[in-house]
Amino acid sequence: MIQPLIDQFQRKINYLRLSITDRCDFRCVYCMNEDMTFLPRDEVLSLEESLRLVKIFTSLGVTKLRVTGGEPLVRKNIGWLFKELSQIEALKEVVLTTNGSQLVQHAPMLKNAHVNRINISLDSLDPVNFKKITRTGDLNKVLLGIDEAIQQGFSNLKLNTVLMKGINDHEAIDLVNFAIDKKMDISFIEEMPLGNIDHTRKDTFISNDEVLKNLQNYFNLIPTTFTSGGPAKYWQLANQSTKVGFISPHSHNFCDTCNRVRVSSKGELFLCLGQEEKIELMPLLRQYPNEDWPIQKAIIESMMVKPEAHDFNLEITQPAVVRFMSHTGG
Ligand code: SAM
Ligand code: SF4
Repeated sequence: MIQPLIDQFQRKINYLRLSITDRCDFRCVYCMNEDMTFLPRDEVLSLEESLRLVKIFTSLGVTKLRVTGGEPLVRKNIGWLFKELSQIEALKEVVLTTNGSQLVQHAPMLKNAHVNRINISLDSLDPVNFKKITRTGDLNKVLLGIDEAIQQGFSNLKLNTVLMKGINDHEAIDLVNFAIDKKMDISFIEEMPLGNIDHTRKDTFISNDEVLKNLQNYFNLIPTTFTSGGPAKYWQLANQSTKVGFISPHSHNFCDTCNRVRVSSKGELFLCLGQEEKIELMPLLRQYPNEDWPIQKAIIESMMVKPEAHDFNLEITQPAVVRFMSHTGG
């Protein structure tokens, strides 16, 4: 009998975001530093441990999984994990967040593993600006990866774009036109203060309200009540299949309907992206290789410390949260 996870504020938790690596082939300026130090391999959950955790979460009523990172597709043997995930009956939805750099080779595998949705990060359509933002990324590879995913029959692809004032905010219209052309949705994400990076986030912050106002000068955007189960608020483009979403942690608090927890690549169960409360699951997984109940018990008990809301604040010079998004899993 499945005992659903209910937190102290009576929110039902049925969505797990699992980071399977903190490593990445990009170094996006809003996400990490150029000289990023990654975890030693023995401090990262094995893929077998990650799979075991997913099964434990499904035994507690989790039905939706997002595989993220770091860049999940750089993890060795990633195809094995997706194949195993596709066998878990209780999982109704498996989605992936990727920077798209390895999609050309992996899109067929993801299709075979019945991955329901892929979110692809795309912050620029200008190769020079793309390189400036990602530091190491090659725009062409990502564009080819998007085409391969379309070719494989993924019909519900979504672009994720972090807009930064003076860096790529002037590309918002082009990015929406690109999404229309590819029949994809696109979400704009406000930059969040996670980890210490090389620029001052307050200087590059642009609110989604401002982005929306700008887009409304060019597009006929109709408000909708559509939800993909996440915090994005969607607008429908008139006469197009494309929806434009806005994830606005600063301007619109989305915590009331929070239905998720995150597990980092180190096996830390984070109860809120913007708060420090966490439970270490790796020691339990290793101490009890054949018994799930101690891990189930720890997860159930964690519901009593899940915070009510995040506390993002761009006014303070230090980030609200010292860990990077690539550590917690975006
Ligand atoms: N590497 C993959 C990617 O880029 O899609 C998955 C991991 S990445 C951490 C997940 C998402 O988090 C991406 O869409 C990225 O743009 C976003 N992200 C990373 N750092 C962020 C920050 N400080 N504020 C807002 N979004 C951020
Ligand atoms: Fe890598 Fe994704 Fe972070 Fe960019 S946003 S550095 S692609 S983890």
